[in-house]
Amino acid sequence: MTFEAEPAPRLTQGLLATGTLFVLAACLGYHLGGTPPPTLHPLRPGGPELRVEIAPGPAREVALSINGNFTLSALRSLPSPGESRPAHFHDRGTILVRAELRNLRVLRPGGPADGEAFPDRLRIRGATLRYPGRREPIWGAVEVERTGPETLEAVVVVDLETYLQGVLLPEMGARFPLEALKAQAVAARSYALARRLDTRRAERDRVLRRSDLDQVYRPEEPVPEAIRIAVDATRGEVLGTLASPIPAYYHSTCGGATRDAAPHFDPTSPIRGAPCPYCRASRYFRWERRYPLDGLIRALAPAARIAPPITAFQIEPDTSGRAVTVRVTHAGGVARIGGDAFRSLINRHLATSREEQLLSTRLDALELDPSQPLVQVRGRGWGHGVGMCQMGAAGMAREGHDYRRILAHYYAGLPVNRLWGDLP
Ligand SMILES: [Zn+2]
Repeated sequence: MTFEAEPAPRLTQGLLATGTLFVLAACLGYHLGGTPPPTLHPLRPGGPELRVEIAPGPAREVALSINGNFTLSALRSLPSPGESRPAHFHDRGTILVRAELRNLRVLRPGGPADGEAFPDRLRIRGATLRYPGRREPIWGAVEVERTGPETLEAVVVVDLETYLQGVLLPEMGARFPLEALKAQAVAARSYALARRLDTRRAERDRVLRRSDLDQVYRPEEPVPEAIRIAVDATRGEVLGTLASPIPAYYHSTCGGATRDAAPHFDPTSPIRGAPCPYCRASRYFRWERRYPLDGLIRALAPAARIAPPITAFQIEPDTSGRAVTVRVTHAGGVARIGGDAFRSLINRHLATSREEQLLSTRLDALELDPSQPLVQVRGRGWGHGVGMCQMGAAGMAREGHDYRRILAHYYAGLPVNRLWGDLP
């Protein structure tokens, strides 16, 4: 769920392989480099707290950068949850928290050389906490939990309204019309609320990933004015209820029609498809791709054995025009491949860049050119096609529709409720 103009941040597997979440050299280089950026918090906290990953997967240690006051406190789990009295520090540099055999160890710039031992869960707070090597601020507290003999999980605990201010920029961008940004704020708020309840563990919510596996989260200071206004103007507004929020899926460009979520994308979702005449201005409204047939046969091998030559392709679409099945007629018979599998296999094995990828399963035609031999694909849209079409939301806003009308179009029949209140 990433808007086309803004690539999602990706932390490489290589960093994780070292057992350290971040490259300390980069962090130290930043601090030696001089004045840190100003810390501004034009944020108005509100709503439930979310737990957001710092980096994907378990690790042995986590590094944070600090330049000023911060506190450390131990957290007790069930049956008597609580927080110890925070210890106050003032430091500049890197805080390192490491999982050991029996406890967590904290190494901080002003502390003892061999660090200090903490129980299995601790909380770090500080207005100047940052992701090392980046200017990105950490809004909220960092919680670290030892999950095994030498593994830990580190998350940011942040309230939902603050979190949204770090989602709208990478997911939509500050240059979208205000009413589209407001619709995006309601959709992203609903989606985060729903996802946090998935596979809930004991007393805590699921950790949200900060990539497009959930929603891209990239806090920046200062928060662009349009984004702050869009979040504040829709404060507390959610599709569904607190107990049953709707995972309000969205995508870049539908190409003319969105699709029903059920049965293929999310069997339990009430989101229905809708015609969308509003996203024609998107550069992804129509696109073409060409693939060599031998490469295509290799890419599709995990799903089907195809014996050359291929003599025909046939698309079996749903009511929105997306391919439910692609039929490939070849020397050995007919192979039937699901539309989503067809797209993901090509994107994984045959297309290395966005310019080469199948951007959606809304395929208009697959045409053979036996003289090359290759297949030419004509398609429309970018993304899964469920829920709000972001470029369509922009088109509706430019035609004068407000965010409530935009939401009613893409999430028809689903009520917007205001679950928490006025600005503080
Ligand atoms: Zn659209």
